[in-house]
Amino acid sequence: MSAASGSSARPRKTNGPVSDAGFVLDVRSLGRRPGTMRELRRTVTDHERLGLDLIAIAADAVVELDLQLQAVSEGVLVTGTVSGPTAGECSRCLEPFDDRVEIRLTELFAYPDSTTEQTTEDAEVYRMEDDLVDLEPVILDAIGLELPLQPLCSPDCAGLCPECGVRMAIAGPDHGHEILDPRWAKLANFATDEPGTGDPA
Ligand SMILES: [Zn+2]
Ligand SMILES: [Zn+2]
Repeated sequence: MSAASGSSARPRKTNGPVSDAGFVLDVRSLGRRPGTMRELRRTVTDHERLGLDLIAIAADAVVELDLQLQAVSEGVLVTGTVSGPTAGECSRCLEPFDDRVEIRLTELFAYPDSTTEQTTEDAEVYRMEDDLVDLEPVILDAIGLELPLQPLCSPDCAGLCPECGVRMAIAGPDHGHEILDPRWAKLANFATDEPGTGDPA
């Protein structure tokens, strides 16, 4: 549940993080002293859907952060794991299935006015903003890379029957179709026709 109570809890800025909540971490306590470290464990339940078309952590599903925040000379280094449940749709049999995903993060957030901040592009190195680190774009990217583009309900999913579309897991190993192809069907008819009575075409 969100701690939001009325409109005062809504973000005041239209972009960028505003407070120490969710995937946004306040790293002020590190005091910009290189070597200072802090452990951070947090459960985040207020977030958008994180993942790909066929598989993702659903919006507001419980995401666990288990992180170390370390002040380095150019910024704050965030390392650790982010994990959560995934809901997927099997790319072979189209059935929904549940799984989990865990990603490892190693990401530098540059201090404003640091050399790193001044010599890199926004797209290369993340930036801190008002002593806040916003992990959401990092997590989105990492989960997108970790999750399979063609997820499977199980590694040996037998998929669907190519003839009738039934799930092979339901149909069983004996499922099959004697006539697999229209050309075979014609041949089969031909074989049972009496000679000379075939269609002239
Ligand atoms: Zn499947
Ligand atoms: Zn079939």
